[in-house]
Amino acid sequence: MELGDVLLEGVVVMSSKTLIKNGCVLTFDKRIGNYTKADILIEGSKIKAIHPQIEVPDAHLVDATNMIVIPGFIDGHRHTWEAAIREIATDFTFYDYEQVVLRGLRNVYRPHDVFVGNFLGALEALNSGVTSLLDWCHNTPTFAHAEAGIMGLKHAGIRGSFYYNVQDNLSMNETRHILCGLLERYFTHSDDLLHLGVALTGPEGTPMELLTQQMHMCRELGLPISIHVGDIPNIKSVKKMYKAGLLGPDVNLVHCTNLEEEEYKYVADSGVTVAISPASEMQMIGIPVTGKLLNVGVKPSLGVDSVTAMAGDMFMQVRLVLQLERMFYLQGQWDSGVDTPKILGMSSQQALDLATIEGARVLGIDQKVGTLTPGKDADLTLVRYTDLNLFPMNNPVGAMALCAETMNVDSVFVSGRAIKRHGQLVHVNMDQVLQMARESRDYIFTMRGVPYGSKPL
Ligand SMILES: [Zn+2]
Repeated sequence: MELGDVLLEGVVVMSSKTLIKNGCVLTFDKRIGNYTKADILIEGSKIKAIHPQIEVPDAHLVDATNMIVIPGFIDGHRHTWEAAIREIATDFTFYDYEQVVLRGLRNVYRPHDVFVGNFLGALEALNSGVTSLLDWCHNTPTFAHAEAGIMGLKHAGIRGSFYYNVQDNLSMNETRHILCGLLERYFTHSDDLLHLGVALTGPEGTPMELLTQQMHMCRELGLPISIHVGDIPNIKSVKKMYKAGLLGPDVNLVHCTNLEEEEYKYVADSGVTVAISPASEMQMIGIPVTGKLLNVGVKPSLGVDSVTAMAGDMFMQVRLVLQLERMFYLQGQWDSGVDTPKILGMSSQQALDLATIEGARVLGIDQKVGTLTPGKDADLTLVRYTDLNLFPMNNPVGAMALCAETMNVDSVFVSGRAIKRHGQLVHVNMDQVLQMARESRDYIFTMRGVPYGSKPL
């Protein structure tokens, strides 16, 4: 893959120790709590200490005065490859999305376009304070497309998992060959930022017999599985898989809208993880089921899903899930005759947890990231509160849930490495990134035609 001048080398020379000074530190770790003012010492890739006053003379200093420090957001579900065709589906139904994106534009993608989509999409995520994501890559018609998707994420410097979408027209042996090839070439080190998973079309598109074989193969290879369920009502996908003994903690279910009531119990019973994407669900799939999941003891993670229809930051997902749950709760109280409810249906911190530690659980990295805890990896975001939408700062947790925006994200660190500083990504040449994105977008639209309703600039 030719990267030209896109990646910048050695822009920031970091000491092996970094000291983040004088930030308002929200650890999201219940045992540690929050600090109005504290320092964070990073040694190598790890958080060494969080304390009101730390002095380390030889550390690289990061001034976090007027900043709120939070764990990096963790996106539990995103089709990152779609970044260069962003915004085209803002007025699409799910049917339109399937016709135009999945049956149309997707088919002209070269491996290079998957690379550009994943690179651009991961940079967008990092820029907005997302330090890990689950990339559900359903644009893998060839091995080369999968390789390109992986390289896009790797070059962007994001943490997470690349979920290869199994092609149902391939034999089990061919699929096994591809998965083993990807593992051998790209995922040999267990301490790498990126891991491999398998995205299966699932019972809403794949016959149960084939799905069963696919899931057994994933388990033989030790690979986690993710499946969309509930996109279509009345399919009973979860019930079918539960009764067939296919569900377990290594399975991630996406959306879970439109399930029958008993199926939510199966979700809880089987120990699967769940990712919901409030914005795309409200437009195309159905009512987000956060409350139904919480009622059976399942905490979902949040995901952007598709930037063809909405922005790629997690601030919006947090905001949506929080206010939706509050609305449902309030309506429920009124419906049951309570005129003035004494509590809200969800707190700001609960919503932020879904976008951080619960995402880490989906990715199987909750021992590593998801909270600011000494011993964990240093994935964190500094949010500047001297901007007009946040100043003066009177409620840091509430502000992070309901008021902050990407424009307030000053700095982002992944595994102790500075990815964004002073409002700018430090490891890429942005002019080159934009040019690469524009060329890829132009190629895709030239090959397939400009999607209806869009006005490319
Ligand atoms: Zn999806």
